[in-house]
Amino acid sequence: TVALSDKINNLSESATIRMAKLGRELKAKGVNVISLSFGEPDFSTPENIKEAAKKAMDENYTYYTPVSGYPDLRQAIVNKLKIENNLDYDISQIVVTTGAKQALANAIMCLVNPGDEVIIPTPYWVSYSEMVKLADGESVFIDTSIESNFKITAEELEAAITPKTKLFMFSSPCNPTGSLYSKDELESLARVFEKHPDIYILSDEIYEHINFSGKHESIAQFNSIKDRVIVVNGFSKAYAMTGWRIGYLAAHPTIAAATDKLQGQITSGTCSITQRAALAAYEGGLDSVIAMRDEFLKRRDIVYNLLKDIDGVKTNLPEGAFYFFPDISSFFGKQTETGETIKDSSDLALYLLNVAHVATVGGDSFGNNDCIRFSYAASEESLVEAMKRIKDALGKLK
Ligand code: PLP
Repeated sequence: TVALSDKINNLSESATIRMAKLGRELKAKGVNVISLSFGEPDFSTPENIKEAAKKAMDENYTYYTPVSGYPDLRQAIVNKLKIENNLDYDISQIVVTTGAKQALANAIMCLVNPGDEVIIPTPYWVSYSEMVKLADGESVFIDTSIESNFKITAEELEAAITPKTKLFMFSSPCNPTGSLYSKDELESLARVFEKHPDIYILSDEIYEHINFSGKHESIAQFNSIKDRVIVVNGFSKAYAMTGWRIGYLAAHPTIAAATDKLQGQITSGTCSITQRAALAAYEGGLDSVIAMRDEFLKRRDIVYNLLKDIDGVKTNLPEGAFYFFPDISSFFGKQTETGETIKDSSDLALYLLNVAHVATVGGDSFGNNDCIRFSYAASEESLVEAMKRIKDALGKLK
């Protein structure tokens, strides 16, 4: 047997990746599986971006890049943050990373000491708590439910803060719930952080452009706390570039420099060709982004109407991202046709995979066991079919 480190043994496998794997295995056996477990736009990367990558190779952008990314890309990110978000940053505050995922990991590794507490509202994206574990930090969860549209209040935040709190991390638009914090709601959280000058705020804004309710609001807009906010964003979701592996963070220059030092030791700068493609994405405007968002909105409405119609399922109306996170706890304790009892959200997700042949993910891996998550980044036709199959399968539980 191989003696792996305690650190890796204590780490959980990503539940979304596990469900995608199970779905693929079933598919390989010839079963017609509809995969809604992954958070990936089903659109192609826009042509202008692909063209820029081809050109980059021809022009020999094939060498190591500066660890924080090419200066012109970092400047384009500065411009983007100013124009789209009205946030002022200097290029020294921008670090390009291997996906938003690495930006989050960087920030946690650079800020969290063993025993430090990291406050995370539930439900949260599966990797947050695992990254905190890797830094030997302690996750402190603030539970929410569908009744509050999965959002926390300033009072709940205040109550979770202790002298050990180092970091607060959240996503808005939220994966898995699709909830958005309004400007007023963010301001009320910012007021709490004003009273606690030792706490940093990791703001995951990767779903910024998949927003059905208007303007994106960043918690970094409140100048009293901006120095302590680490804004994380990227290209995977807005530009359908999940495989390209590029994201970034914007932070206080000391945090940006620490991040540069960290990734200088473990990954170096992300792919040179991808960086040229990302520059083209930001220079190319938002037309393709808006077209994809409109398509997601259409699908959201279709799925919402079908989902509302399923007995025993409660759902919010997601305002952003491309997921539903319905409460399915009314099925707990019920029996399948083969006599197994559905005990929790993972059991239900497995049941839906095996009986409805629809891959979803149990909410327990997102810190909320009453719900399941599925993505609607799939064709209208397969979404309609998936909802029909889910309804039939749930109807069979006794
Ligand atoms: N943050 C959230 C909330 C996500 O859902 C994801 C991807 O699923 C990421 C970050 C990571 O994105 P990237 O592909 O840029 O690493």
